[in-house]
Amino acid sequence: MKTKIEKLKIDLINWYKKNKRDFSWRNTTDPWQILLIETLSQQTQLERANLYFEKFFIEFPSPKSMANSSLKIILKMWSGLGYNNRAKRLFEASKIIEKKGFDQIYPNFEILPGVGPYTKNAILSFAYGEKVLAVDTNTVRICQRYFGLNDTKDFFKENFEHFLLNVDSRDINQAFMDFGSSICKSSNPRCNICPIENSCSKHFSVNKRGKEKFKGSNREVRGKIIKLLINNGQIKNQKLFEEINEDSDKVQKALEGLKKDNLIKFKKNNIIEIN
Ligand code: SF4
Repeated sequence: MKTKIEKLKIDLINWYKKNKRDFSWRNTTDPWQILLIETLSQQTQLERANLYFEKFFIEFPSPKSMANSSLKIILKMWSGLGYNNRAKRLFEASKIIEKKGFDQIYPNFEILPGVGPYTKNAILSFAYGEKVLAVDTNTVRICQRYFGLNDTKDFFKENFEHFLLNVDSRDINQAFMDFGSSICKSSNPRCNICPIENSCSKHFSVNKRGKEKFKGSNREVRGKIIKLLINNGQIKNQKLFEEINEDSDKVQKALEGLKKDNLIKFKKNNIIEIN
């Protein structure tokens, strides 16, 4: 296994050096920029997330500038990305960073809202150059296929040191990201032009859970409600149901979810507004 990991690592980094996507945040060690792009790119393609990053970084060049802003402004800029909870968590994280500073929080970035093991390791690797593997869906998918594994949980625990030996963690982590996005894609992997095809097990595990359809989904209804509240400031309950024009049970469910996530609040006289 060690030899096969060594080969994959070298092949991926060589591929990455010739094919890497050029994003401004790839040339920085500023943890704020890394946190921004990692939050924006969750469940979103990197090219699309990068467009939002450019807008966000102009408006919020530091945690302080975001901490002094408002959830309404942030949600307005976030519009179109979906998963509005991420915006709220980023806002909350900016307030904590503004008080403590990244260096005081280092290395325990998981204390920040919205920062899980992947984002924590991405910050440690890209901003601090730490020898950590930032395992995301690309890393898992490539290794499942290449090594013929159904479950990679123990695999990464047992082998992360082999992946990181004698390489800059930034290179291997970003190589997985780009290779998974353009060659070993989740659907229709491009095995015919893949530089590691000869040694790949080409193991395709079956994902039984289909993706939630966006049209008419809870996610879509939540997005519509947030958009309406951004445009109107506040709105009466009954008017909101009329404007959203979806099944009332779905609207009710979306409203309850948004309230539970502290994204909206219910005020007197059946008024609803952004929290
Ligand atoms: S050969 Fe196909 S499955 Fe294997 S790593 Fe390349 S693209 Fe992925």
